[in-house]
Amino acid sequence: MNVQTPGPLALETNAGFRTGADFLAHLAATPRAVFVDGERVSDPSRHPAFRQAAKQLASLYDFAFAPENLEIMTYLEPETGLRALRCYQIPKTVADLTAKRIAAEKWAELSFGLMGRSPDHVANFFTGYAAKPSVFAKSGAQYAERVVNFYKRLRDKHLYVSYAIVPPQIDRSKSASNQSEPDLYAGVVREVEGGIIVKGGQQLATGGVFADYLHLSSIHPLQPGDENYAISVAIPMDAPGLRLLSRRAFATQATSSYDYPLTSRFDETDSFVVLDDVFVPWDHVFIYRDIELCRDQWWKTPSHTYGNHQAQARFSTKLRFLLGMAKRMNEATGNDGAPPVMVQMGELAALASIVEGMLLSQEALATVDDEGVLWPSKSMLYAVMALQGEINPRMIDIVRELTGAAMITLPSSVKDFDNPETAKDIERYYRSSQMGARDRVALMRMAWDFIGTEFGNRHQ
Ligand SMILES: Cc1cc2nc3c(=O)[nH]c(=O)nc-3n(C[C@H](O)[C@H](O)[C@H](O)COP(=O)(O)OP(=O)(O)OC[C@H]3O[C@@H](n4cnc5c(N)ncnc54)[C@H](O)[C@@H]3O)c2cc1C
Repeated sequence: MNVQTPGPLALETNAGFRTGADFLAHLAATPRAVFVDGERVSDPSRHPAFRQAAKQLASLYDFAFAPENLEIMTYLEPETGLRALRCYQIPKTVADLTAKRIAAEKWAELSFGLMGRSPDHVANFFTGYAAKPSVFAKSGAQYAERVVNFYKRLRDKHLYVSYAIVPPQIDRSKSASNQSEPDLYAGVVREVEGGIIVKGGQQLATGGVFADYLHLSSIHPLQPGDENYAISVAIPMDAPGLRLLSRRAFATQATSSYDYPLTSRFDETDSFVVLDDVFVPWDHVFIYRDIELCRDQWWKTPSHTYGNHQAQARFSTKLRFLLGMAKRMNEATGNDGAPPVMVQMGELAALASIVEGMLLSQEALATVDDEGVLWPSKSMLYAVMALQGEINPRMIDIVRELTGAAMITLPSSVKDFDNPETAKDIERYYRSSQMGARDRVALMRMAWDFIGTEFGNRHQ
């Protein structure tokens, strides 16, 4: 943690900021049990499957706490007098929510909106919980106190949480407690001195290999009898018994950053979570065997709306990037002025604008509840989330069509530029009136990485 004071705002607050180097040092200092391709990885920042994404995440902290970005990316927390990331700000006014969105967009722009679970996502869920301690207090005052204390710790130390809140796809026709074994789905198996033991599997911690904490809970409806699964806890990523089974790493398939500019940089990875008798101290237990509260944490606090307002800011950023990329592609081929291409670009622009408009209307139509907490408009948020599954593939389809045969006409890899026999031909025949061959091939490679690769196809 950097306790120096890099700028006037920091001087004013004497904040202890988190740098990218702090983030990477923490990864190295907290050995995890991450598994990929049969290998156990304790420091993801040193492994080819994860190191570029780790660097990218580190750059978010450097960006946020750079003196010139402090005003946008952080706010002055009245309780401490210190600067905290905007994602931890409990909005009271529309201006607060707008400021949170602008900060989310700034971070999203650094990955063109392609890292879905940057540290501001789950942070916003905890901000939503802390905004409504009264909801947690229904289970007992201690739960409200613990969730607020934990939120404050995240806020004041600028920490990164990933979540696993969906049960495994084992047998969805049966409730959690009716699975073939009682500890298949993650839940509490016993109480011990000072806390509880959790055991079982849960999906799907995006970014989990890089996070400081895992937030384990269930967003799936639970039935009477499922009390052991009705929990909400936080677990440090290096806790004994916590294993992260990473999905296939896309980053290691990227043969070069020229040929796979997005896969090679932004593969945040998703991990199945295995909890093998993991101890959780009581102060990290926010919900305990309470089915009603396990449901209410998502819907009676603004957690889900804050987290997904951020997610839509990220989505909107991605669509703007896609639109710009399509425009550059058309300019490169000289198709830009063709009326049918303009019609397709018009549809792309309209779809991106719908998402942007619905993001802004979550702010314009936000409401303040009787405890003075601002909620983004739920109807606008859930409407755009419902449309996301249609808008994203439609836009990808249009871009795919606009590329024509370009994707299968490209040279086999960047190495073809190194062979003097082929380099001359490539320079001559792959150029466009707007750009040289290297730039044009790079642009089309990026388009392919967006719409055609495993990395691109994972995305929404
Ligand atoms: C890119 C990505 C990142 C993710 N990141 C996270 C994360 O960080 N943390 C986390 O906890 N989770 C994460 N998830 C997991 C996500 O929460 C779940 O995948 C999602 O909730 C869907 O659940 P499922 O995969 O179990 O699908 P299922 O519930 O098994 O559904 C599969 C399909 O079956 C059909 N279906 C099933 N039930 C019904 C029904 N009742 N009515 C109609 N159709 C039905 C639908 O077509 C559905 O799409 C992520 C998922 C993706 C794709």
